[in-house]
Amino acid sequence: METDVRKNPGLLKLDLYCRGVRLDDSCTIEEHGGRKILKTRAGLGSGLELILPGDLWTNVPVVEDFVAESPYTLHFRAGSFWIDRSDLGPVAKVQLSPQPDWYNRTTSSGKRMTLVGTLQGTYLGVYPSKVCEYWLKKPDKEQCRFCSVGLNLGADDGDEKSVDEVVEVVRAARAESGITYVDFNTGHYDGDTYLDILEPYIRRVKEETNVLIGVQTPPHNDLKRYHELRAMGVNRVSFCFEIWNRGRFVEVCPGKHRQYGLDRYLEAIRYCAQEVGPTGRGFEPWVVNGEIIAGLEAPEDSIRAIDWITSVGAIPTVCVFRPLVGTDMQDAHTPRTDDLVPVFQRLYEACMERGLPIGCAPNVHVSLVLLPEECRSLSARRFPLRTLKLRALARAVEWTLSRRLAAAAS
Ligand code: SF4
Repeated sequence: METDVRKNPGLLKLDLYCRGVRLDDSCTIEEHGGRKILKTRAGLGSGLELILPGDLWTNVPVVEDFVAESPYTLHFRAGSFWIDRSDLGPVAKVQLSPQPDWYNRTTSSGKRMTLVGTLQGTYLGVYPSKVCEYWLKKPDKEQCRFCSVGLNLGADDGDEKSVDEVVEVVRAARAESGITYVDFNTGHYDGDTYLDILEPYIRRVKEETNVLIGVQTPPHNDLKRYHELRAMGVNRVSFCFEIWNRGRFVEVCPGKHRQYGLDRYLEAIRYCAQEVGPTGRGFEPWVVNGEIIAGLEAPEDSIRAIDWITSVGAIPTVCVFRPLVGTDMQDAHTPRTDDLVPVFQRLYEACMERGLPIGCAPNVHVSLVLLPEECRSLSARRFPLRTLKLRALARAVEWTLSRRLAAAAS
């Protein structure tokens, strides 16, 4: 593996998640067309949206305390942004992820569009409903200890959003930012109501725009609901169980443990990957993700999680733990890059060994995680036949989707 971050953008993306970047006084982000740093409800995204060499989109920590120790700084010089490292000098010329015009507009109902949805990389993230109820439990809150969702609410992300408002923002993001994918996300609501809440949004957005749609919620107790979601045109379901180690899961995710338990998450992932078949809607890709956070448990446990998720035909989403300001874990250490390299190496290799469809969604760059295909540069193993097949699949998906999106727009 190439260990020089100047030559390995995948490693640079990982190192920046772990260490963050200090902003030199020369950096005026919004004046240079970059995206405002938003405390959105995406649990771990609190940083600066950047594009690294190799077209790797990322969200780099800038406001947390540990960043003060980072060897990386962002400078603006000679008309470009540069990441420098104290021991290496210039590391990479980077771009700010562009802030679209619609970020400064309001919906016809008068709501700032970024209160309805925000870009995370190149897709639109929407949190249509109220705050996760683990934040409201009495006498003691039960929220996941790393999570900032309940702290951010009302600051950069609105509470309830109407279906019309969401459709309007999706249309703006489709027309002006070229999004192909919308991700709907909720926390926990008593009574398993999250899918009932999301379905009206999903139906209208699909009907009117034909974009790819993903849903990230807790695992519903009626697994048959996932057949209905797929029939509605959902393309991705994602279940965040965060931690494989059972003792650590109880400690860090008390609400999830009490309400669902790790096994229910795992069964939902297995069921959706293996038993939710095609629905007769024609072209509608279907991907199932199990999401974990590397750095909250030993790397060996993260690797066990990756091996299990891929063994049932699902694709792991692996975030890097970030001790967000104001959370119960704000004083925890960030993970060391060297400890996480084997985790992300395994992520790429396990997906390729199983022939899972990674990197096939057109124009979906994710800033909050290192995607499996972005970890190729962390592995010495090559899978030439599978790589060719994936390229062919990606072309087919792009061709078909572009026609469907054009049809919806006309
Ligand atoms: S389930 Fe946990 S991580 Fe998700 S929003 Fe609620 S507290 Fe945060």
